[in-house]
Amino acid sequence: MEHIKGIQAALEKEGLDAILFTDPISCRYATGFFFTDGAVLVSREKSWLLTDSRYTEAAGQQVKESEVLAFGIGRPLYGLLKELCAAIPGKLGAEEERMSHAAWGKLESELGRELTPAGKLLTELRAVKDAEEVENMIAAQRIAERALEDVLNILRPGLTEKEVAAELTYRMLRYGGEENSFDPIVVTGAKSSMPHGVPGDVVIRSGDFVTLDFGTKKGGYCSDMTRTVAVGHATEEMEKVYDTVLRAQLAGIAAAKAGVEGCVIDSAARKVIEDAGYGAYFGHSFGHSLGLEIHEAPGAAPTSRVVLPEGLAVSAEPGIYLPGRFGVRIEDVIILRADGCENITKAPKELLVL
Ligand code: ZN
Ligand code: ZN
Repeated sequence: MEHIKGIQAALEKEGLDAILFTDPISCRYATGFFFTDGAVLVSREKSWLLTDSRYTEAAGQQVKESEVLAFGIGRPLYGLLKELCAAIPGKLGAEEERMSHAAWGKLESELGRELTPAGKLLTELRAVKDAEEVENMIAAQRIAERALEDVLNILRPGLTEKEVAAELTYRMLRYGGEENSFDPIVVTGAKSSMPHGVPGDVVIRSGDFVTLDFGTKKGGYCSDMTRTVAVGHATEEMEKVYDTVLRAQLAGIAAAKAGVEGCVIDSAARKVIEDAGYGAYFGHSFGHSLGLEIHEAPGAAPTSRVVLPEGLAVSAEPGIYLPGRFGVRIEDVIILRADGCENITKAPKELLVL
């Protein structure tokens, strides 16, 4: 989907006359079209998508709000950009966080003008998801849940973490996912105490926790979910830790709404874990926002004083990790609203013993 009008309104607010995007994700957000080489230029009145012959035909069909221009042999990208920019006097913004220092300097010298750092313009716009973006995230989430349902039916002692990760990936693709939103995390037994452990040849045994953290994309938008399940049986302590994580997650979700600072949501969840005596074992933030990318800004971190906007899609993923023993994480994605939040993750989260 195209977001040119929102970008133009933001240009006016920020006192910029135009903004130049070179990052493929930024270009996609602006035009709804994914291409890896080129740029998008948005002025207050008009916008252009510049790409090469590999993409121009498809771009011409899909992109409505921007003029599609081709660069190539004899017509270099920078030359074309320089021509367009010459007709736009005033302040030209670019995304300083999405290019190297060298690339920034090259762009300035090729265009023969100074660029204004304007990275926060798109970060702020992208944080607020419109109905169509939320729809894509929900569609991706439903696919991931369908894959999980299948995998829980076949998950048993003897399978390796890698095999389970492969089954998740295959099924998400099979059910219409475009690609993984990140490499699935499947960790079992003592390895489940590593929040971002990499699936290996470790075999699932009876009495283990298995943590599955995975997601797919729809329309370019990411899903993200984590479930931790017990295989065979769970000890009393495993049950206690699981229950604590779940209560922490519910407390964070209950505190989540637009207009609060990220740290308020984090601390609501963290308090439950601290009160249960596991405060030292919850080492990461309650949640990160997501959309076209799996990690966006702002998030719900202990230090986040950013007031969270309505429409922010943010994960709710507390965890307790007991080194060398086991870990539990439960993750949903919620959309912040004025009076609370909408949980777009529907998979059950009571402790499941397979
Ligand atoms: Zn996740
Ligand atoms: Zn996450």
